[in-house]
Amino acid sequence: MHSNLIFDKPESNCGIFGIFKHNQASTLTYYGLLALQHRGQEASGIVTSFFDKSKNNVTFNLRKGKGLVSEVFNDEKIFTDELKGDSAIGHNRYSTTGSNILINVQPFVVKYKSGNLAISHNGNLTNARILRGKLIEEGAIFQTSSDTEVILHLISRSKFENQTDQIFNALNQVTGAYSLLILTDNNLYACRDPYGVRPLCIGKYEDSYVFASETCAFDLIGAEYLREVEPGEIVFFNIKNNQITLKSIFLDNKQSKPKKCIFEFIYFSRPDSVVFNENVDKIRRQLGKRLAEENPVNSTNEKKLAIISVPDSSNTIAIGYNDQLRKMNYNCKFEIGLIRSHYIGRTFIQSEQNKREFSTRIKYNIVRGVLKERDVVVVDDSIVRGTTSRQLINLLKEGKPNKIHFRVASPPILFPCQYGMDFPSREELIANKHNGDISKIKKELEVDSLEYLSFEGLISCTPEKSEEFYCTACFTGKYPIPIDNDFHKDQNES
Ligand code: SF4
Repeated sequence: MHSNLIFDKPESNCGIFGIFKHNQASTLTYYGLLALQHRGQEASGIVTSFFDKSKNNVTFNLRKGKGLVSEVFNDEKIFTDELKGDSAIGHNRYSTTGSNILINVQPFVVKYKSGNLAISHNGNLTNARILRGKLIEEGAIFQTSSDTEVILHLISRSKFENQTDQIFNALNQVTGAYSLLILTDNNLYACRDPYGVRPLCIGKYEDSYVFASETCAFDLIGAEYLREVEPGEIVFFNIKNNQITLKSIFLDNKQSKPKKCIFEFIYFSRPDSVVFNENVDKIRRQLGKRLAEENPVNSTNEKKLAIISVPDSSNTIAIGYNDQLRKMNYNCKFEIGLIRSHYIGRTFIQSEQNKREFSTRIKYNIVRGVLKERDVVVVDDSIVRGTTSRQLINLLKEGKPNKIHFRVASPPILFPCQYGMDFPSREELIANKHNGDISKIKKELEVDSLEYLSFEGLISCTPEKSEEFYCTACFTGKYPIPIDNDFHKDQNES
């Protein structure tokens, strides 16, 4: 079993990166994907476009495989010999068990009437099942079970001559969440769905342009962040007299109010990234502060209250929580009570027995001196199934703390995500299982107290301070884009 499947955080999602016109396109894409590794650890791929002067034609070169970026691209020669070309797109994939077969690993590459075409997709289409059925009836042959392939078929079957028109036409037919990079023989298209559910950023690197799911990828290569691809926008390039300029068009159904995934702020994105034009670290600190205002912990223990995070995702939130409690004159201290191993890579655990015993220990260990006889507040970003939280609490108890209080910087997750996050089914969500009754969840987790951030509290930490601009469906069940209730039957997230 893969380590990712043991820990029950919602599994992202995917990471995408692209670069247009740079002589080190594949190497820079590799670095970009390394920075986006947290968005998908199951598989990785890069495709480059290479203009062969001797033959006067463009070839696409592809390397993809299962595993971490460093495992798939494990030899320098891959970049110089295999992935030649001056433009590239890449993809890090997370997939559910069973669907992680190599054929589903992106980017997808096809050759069709207008030349070569490659695509990297982050998100989930909500009408893919219906479109796929229609396309199959019309004679289309699908090679993968991924919804992304539907977009390829729509582009290749478009009646338009011009590729920009073909892409525009195809995207006007799909619904759902998508941030896409589409590489053609002469251009690179960056597209975001009309609701802007998933992030996609534009940067400048030397004389070239780069795209990434998050700006941490720009920081790694030293690119300058320019702006987001707007919801409903298709960005591409115009080349005249060797000058590259950005062009942009908008899809027909661009929404006046986006529905950005609020979970990007809570957990998915890295805190050192800018997503949705906002600094993730700043939002996470605010979440921690608000959580402290709403749910402080009273301790009568003479030793300082220990505020600990579940590393790494809740580090910043725990710092915010501690800062606010101190402002409110609580006798507390931010401590490192859990150590996370960063070197486990792709770890396999053989038997069910071992899985139970080692799954948490492989990733975390406790600092006994921090925990012993202290009242401890564990600050986490979210609880999904509750299995990891339960295991962590058992582990912490080995450090003999006086009390364990659990504080969660998001409201209870009651509904699955239909827009590209691998949230479990309703029944598997611990909060749904207990009908949102926090006292029952507390009992299951066996902690001295448990509190969640309120929904109002969460919204107050967003830049707009309004739920109108966000998808919050996993908390509220209000799905902003119509969903296909049968979509789990034969779809895979990208
Ligand atoms: S349902 Fe939750 S995880 Fe999915 S897009 Fe909406 S806010 Fe994000």
